[in-house]
Order: sequence, then C-alpha cells, then structure tokens
Amino acid sequence: MSDLYHKVSNSPVGRSVVSALNLPAPVILERQSRPDAPFLEGDVLLSGAPGGSALETICTVLGASTASLFALDAKSLVTAGDIKSKTKVYSLKSDAIDEQRRFKALVFDATGISTTEDLKAVYTFFHPIIRNVAKCGRIVIVGTEPSSCRTPAMAASQKALEGFIRSVAKETGKKGITAQVIYAIPGSESHIESPLRFCLSPRSAYVSGQTLSVSKAAKSRASLDWNSPLKGKVALVTGASRGIGEAIAKTLSRDGAKVVCLDVPQAKDALESVAANIGGTTLALDITTPVAPEVISAHFEKQFDGLDIIVHNAGITRDKTLGRMPEHFWDLLVDINLSSEERINDALFANEVFNKNARIVCVSSISGIAGNVGQSNYAASKSGVIGYVESLSKQLKGGITINAVAPGFIETQMTAAIPFMIREAGRRMNSLNQGGQPEDVAEAIAFFSSPASQGVNGNILRVCGQSLIGK
Ligand code: NAD
Repeated sequence: MSDLYHKVSNSPVGRSVVSALNLPAPVILERQSRPDAPFLEGDVLLSGAPGGSALETICTVLGASTASLFALDAKSLVTAGDIKSKTKVYSLKSDAIDEQRRFKALVFDATGISTTEDLKAVYTFFHPIIRNVAKCGRIVIVGTEPSSCRTPAMAASQKALEGFIRSVAKETGKKGITAQVIYAIPGSESHIESPLRFCLSPRSAYVSGQTLSVSKAAKSRASLDWNSPLKGKVALVTGASRGIGEAIAKTLSRDGAKVVCLDVPQAKDALESVAANIGGTTLALDITTPVAPEVISAHFEKQFDGLDIIVHNAGITRDKTLGRMPEHFWDLLVDINLSSEERINDALFANEVFNKNARIVCVSSISGIAGNVGQSNYAASKSGVIGYVESLSKQLKGGITINAVAPGFIETQMTAAIPFMIREAGRRMNSLNQGGQPEDVAEAIAFFSSPASQGVNGNILRVCGQSLIGK
C-alpha cells in the first residue's frame, strides 16, 4: 500500500509546498539495506551517571560496530578516562561541539541513578547535545528495571526515564530519530547486547518511545554469527501468504532460518510463491480447524527435528460497533486471533515439539492497548494476546521465551481496507508522521527470535512509530 503524501512531500516540489503550508513532512526512514550491513555507523556520544554497571558492556557491544565512540568531558558524568574498556573512547569537550556536528547515536548508562536528585544526570548529558543528533539517529538509555529496584526512590528515578524518553522521542521523531530505554534487572547487563544492537540499528526504524526489559538467563556458550543468527533454526509463520506474515517469513529466512509458511488453503497459490522465493516450505491449513494443533505438531515432529521459532501472526478484523456486531464476528475473530494460538502452543508443549531455547512470538496490536471504536472483538483478542504472553513468560523453562509485537498502522491490505480519512489519520498520528512497513514488524520479530535475545522474555514491543494513541 503506498503513501502518496509521503512520496510527494519528499519530492523537490512537494518539499517546498509542505514547508510553505507548515504541514508535517515525514522523512524517509533508514532501514536495513543488507543483512551484513554494520548495525551502527558514524559518531556515537556516550556517557553515564557515576556508579553505573552497563557502560563496559555498552562499549564492548559498540566496539563490534564501525562507529567511533566519544564521551563528553563533563562534570558529574562518566568521562572517557573513567571508562574501563578495550574499545577506544575519545574524549570530547562540550564547548568543542558546534551546531553543525552530528552524532548518529547518543547512549547513556543510567543504571547508576538511585535517587531522584541523581536524575539530573540525564538533563546534564542530553540537554546540550540533543539538537546534534543526526537524521534517523538513535537515542538509547540503559537503566535498571524499576520493579527490581531496592528502594522507592530508586524505582521512581528509574521509572522517570520512561517519561523522559517518551518525550524525547516525541520531540525528535520528526527527524526520523528514535529513542528507547532498555531496562536490565541487576546482574543481567551481559544480556543487553541483542536489544542494544536492535535499538541502535536501522532494524528498529519504526520503533520509538519504547521500553524493553532484560532479565537474567543462562548465556549461550556458542558464538553467534550476527549476519545469520537463525542459521540451523526451523521457524513456523502463520498467515504467511501476504502482508506482515510474508515479510516475517522473508526476514527470518534472510537471517538463516528454514521457514515453514502457513496460511488458509484458499491462499495456497500466494503461499507457495512466498515459500518458493525464500527456499521455504508450505503448510496450507486453517488454524481454527480442530485438527490444526495436532497436524502442526506432527509436521514438525516428522519433517524436522522439532520447532525452534513460532510466529503467531495470522489474524483478522471484523469491525462493527458492539451493538451492531453479529455473534459470528466475535466468535470467528477470537478463535483465529487468540484461542487457536493457545491451542497450537498447548499441543506443541504437550508433544514436546519445541526445542530447547525455542522462541514464541505473538502479534498483538496497539488496538489491544488503547481500544478502538468498532473493534471491541479485535481489541479484546489483541489485549488477550498481551495477557497470555505476560503470564506464559513466567512459566517457561528450558530457555524458551515468549514475547509479542504490537504493530500500529502498518501499510498492508488490512489497513488498505480502512476508509480514507481514518486511514490518513492513522498514518500521521505518530511521532514519525507515517505508517510503518511490514518489514518493520518483521525486524522486531527477528530480534525476539534471535538466540542472542535469551534475556528478553515477556516483552510487548510496540512497532508503531510512537503512535499517539495508547501508552
Ligand atoms: P493480512 O490480512 O494482510 O494477513 C493476515 C493473514 O492471516 C492472511 O494471509 C490470512 O489468510 C491469514 N489468516 C487469517 N485467518 C487464518 C486462519 N484461520 N488460518 C490461517 N491463516 C489465516 O493482515 P496483516 O496486516 O498482514 O496482519 C498480520 C497480523 O498483524 C494480524 O494478526 C493483525 O491483526 C496484526 N496487525 C496488523 C496491523 C496493520 O496495520 N496491518 C496492525 C496491528 C496488528
């Protein structure tokens, strides 16, 4: 689905018209060009509040990129001389930064903040340089998960980072800049690599103003090829014949997985074409049929050595205000969007088809967070997905994780069916002033699916350009 306004406003004539009329001018977001492109390039400015525990890991992670690292020589912040890392960090004086200087990313270790007075450190760091972030730049704060804080004062100051970053994301989004907080439970700092890479890379182009939580988990001893992290993994993607599901199948395959593409038998031709393009296979099956959980389970037992990744993407809308909603709209939708996911997972667990360290990723929606007129059935199903993920994440063993993405307005056939005015409002009502692409959702799912995301469990990540609705 094409966004004509976005195209026109980025043409030479359109740009001057949009500027003269003071209309929003959505920038062209930088997305992953090739799988082996460096996750971060350019100059990165970093620092932290004294006493933090994440800077060393941050420097090691950034040392694997082609970025050049700088630290501000500022009073009350961690300076280049304080950082103990093999990665070279250059010292930079604040007054040496002129208006033209651009940083691709700002990264701040806030784990040392334990009182509300300490919070001043984020102002001290970001205030002088926030206008020096490059177009499509990245801002990341690493903090301590508020629920794991020792004192209410610490919990308050860590939670404050969320409001801070959501505001910064809103202020900078018009330049395509994104901003997130990665919260680590104390002792889990070594697991921030995967979320840090994701948040700093073009893969998170349409994710902004979000928090991700990282918990302690057993670290895999095998070294990871970051250009092909899913090599040797078997993945199932439901609803894979088009739209977001097609993009997920392509992205998981790009990252090295063998992908089984599932969709309803009526979509067999399109499904076969998606699978053929990525060297995958197909499973033409309606997930609501009573035999579906056992058929899927048997497929991975017999044809493969179990299942490593399942992406519950298949979903429908059946919009009507509640008083006008026929019963079958409710029944069919809840069955496809919610109940069938549960039944399939139950069978895969009961038959022990999930391999060790398997990844379950569900697709929710911001409609499930904010609610929507005419979508009481859809929003209920997508809220249900969130409740399911949050609860199941606490019960999983064997390194298995479950997370969900909650897309906002994504350009697909589903959103193409929305009436024009509502569609246009949905596209623009976010900090980046544009709809997302199916690939943006797929990248977030690939991040959750990675073996490196071992400490990422029970997260609900919005892929919505920081939509103004909902949290
Ligand atoms: P889409 O309609 O283009 O694709 C959905 C796919 O699911 C279709 O190929 C369809 O055949 C398949 N499907 C439906 N019922 C099925 C069943 N019973 N068994 C097997 N497959 C079935 O939709 P999309 O926009 O690509 O959405 C994909 C997911 O993302 C859905 O869960 C949707 O709710 C969610 N989502 C989409 C958006 C958006 O803006 N497009 C926003 C939020 C959430």
